[in-house]
Amino acid sequence: MLKESLKLNTEKKSKKILHHFAETEIDAGIIDEVIRKYPVKLTPFLIKQFSKSEAIRKQYLPHISEITTEGTPTPFEEGKKASKTYGLERLYRDRVLITPNFDCPAYCRFCYKKSRVMRNKKAMTLNDIDKVANEVSKMDQVRGALITGGEPFLDTGKLFYLLDKLIEIDNISEIRIGSRAFLTMPQIFTDELCFKLSTYNKININNPKKSKYLAINTHFNHPDELLPEVLEVCNKFTSRGITLRNQTVLLKGINDNIESMSKLFNLLVRNNIIVYYMNHCMPVEGSDHLRTSVQKGLDIYKYLCTESSTVVPHYVYAPSGGKVHVGPDTIFEYVYENGTRLIKVKTLYKADEFKKITKKDLPPMHGVTADGYIHGYYIDGNDD
Ligand code: SF4
Repeated sequence: MLKESLKLNTEKKSKKILHHFAETEIDAGIIDEVIRKYPVKLTPFLIKQFSKSEAIRKQYLPHISEITTEGTPTPFEEGKKASKTYGLERLYRDRVLITPNFDCPAYCRFCYKKSRVMRNKKAMTLNDIDKVANEVSKMDQVRGALITGGEPFLDTGKLFYLLDKLIEIDNISEIRIGSRAFLTMPQIFTDELCFKLSTYNKININNPKKSKYLAINTHFNHPDELLPEVLEVCNKFTSRGITLRNQTVLLKGINDNIESMSKLFNLLVRNNIIVYYMNHCMPVEGSDHLRTSVQKGLDIYKYLCTESSTVVPHYVYAPSGGKVHVGPDTIFEYVYENGTRLIKVKTLYKADEFKKITKKDLPPMHGVTADGYIHGYYIDGNDD
């Protein structure tokens, strides 16, 4: 297990960093309270970047606004099947989620999984991984496995153990690893590690049905994050044939403008990273100050859609029942509950199929339309 992270507490030497967004002593006290609720964890690499980039600081350093919230502890988790097999979840017909480590080397303040990532949840054991592989091999409709986190690269031995199991499963043709470690501890990505990952790309030129591939989903939110050390890692992967796809989170005061988003997506594409998703920031507790309205994201998105489609991601928001794609012509339906603005939406998912896959009832704030689809409500952000 890597020990690259610094778990900061409220000791004196850490306070200057932790209280960066405190303007008064009272603010500093509130931030200490915030940290007790939602811990801070940073890496030496990130701390080095703080002096250079406000956009990076805002993503990792606590803010007094986190103390009050309209968000929920588990905005997306309610929808998934919490399998009896530890670390395995399924929400969709064709793919599963596997979480070998619930922890991360650094904690993003807007993390929608903070109820798990920040809580010292135990990692999967090798025995758990064996059970997952066995269960997934019996899920005929599942063709993809998303190895997510937490941070899968926190324990590379365990990650390779899992990859070795998954690559042997007949029905699995696509393995994706979701990682932000490039941006928080790029020094762990040695040539040897990147080469080893590339060996899981198994293209069968004589029988394409037998091909399997491994790709990495990464998470850049701002042009400031395309640092030489980080791009060096990206190049180690892409030059070895590993596809990189980026998922960006729309964040108030960080990238919620046309200039930042357009620049970010153009830079990513130029550096061989596919622009994949622009996610609306989920209504997780403590993140209200970083959440715009979904409409604001749409206003940015409309501009992006006038550019080459290579730099246009999918724009999505995600009620617990499953993600919803926003198109340039989308018109939102709003309802208000106790002063909170909610977006009412009919999803693409059939309620019966959802219940069958997840083996549970619909999540809170969700129901069934007359024609059998899930409808849900999503807590909107605001642009004040
Ligand atoms: S890297 Fe992802 S899982 Fe980890 S804290 Fe950030 S948002 Fe959460």
